[in-house]
Amino acid sequence: MLDGIFGESMMKRAVGLGAVTFRTIDLRDFTTDKHRTTDDRPYGGGPGMVMKADPIFQAVESVRTPHARILLMSPQGRRFAQSMARELSAEQHVILVCGHYEGIDERVKIGLNAEEVSIGDYVLTNGVLPAAVIVDAVVRLLPGVLGGEGAAEQESFTENLLDCPHYTRPEEYRGMKVPEVLLSGDHGAIRKWREAEARRRTQNRRPDLLGD
Ligand code: SAM
Repeated sequence: MLDGIFGESMMKRAVGLGAVTFRTIDLRDFTTDKHRTTDDRPYGGGPGMVMKADPIFQAVESVRTPHARILLMSPQGRRFAQSMARELSAEQHVILVCGHYEGIDERVKIGLNAEEVSIGDYVLTNGVLPAAVIVDAVVRLLPGVLGGEGAAEQESFTENLLDCPHYTRPEEYRGMKVPEVLLSGDHGAIRKWREAEARRRTQNRRPDLLGD
């Protein structure tokens, strides 16, 4: 799943630019039994299976560098947000551990000193999509990756504001017109309009971001 995501679009471009290197690791390569088992029944009983600690420890220790930040994908973790994406974009090495089934043996978090991170209040089948979400949000912030396609400084959640509305050709579509100011060529007025629209949108949709 991750190879597909990392091999397309902005992620592919980031690799081409040398801004990032991805490495996906199969936990089964760190098992010792003939069935290459990475999960087992939960102590105390109950439904589902639990990811075993040892293959995860072995896998992480095989790639860990002294400053690596280890993130454990978990719906119970710190909520991922743009501020954390910015924070992670300054790291040299990030290791994302993806859980499956009922979750991961609790000793992984403790023993690896891993931070639990959630991408939202819902439960997904496994940690692959959360890891992909985090990687995408971080990598597009790395210097040079966005290029001419967009400036991260103007996007939603920068300076606690949502982005302003955007329009492209034609000037009128199905009776809906592009706001006059955007056609005026007056860059000062356009900047002011965009700022006001961003503020208005944020006030209407996400007043929590404005902190009032
Ligand atoms: N039993 C767990 C609970 O209720 O908290 C849910 C386990 S979930 C089915 C399996 C794995 O998917 C988790 O260990 C985690 O790695 C990943 N996962 C699911 N939802 C997630 C979310 N919202 N954010 C981050 N990771 C998530």
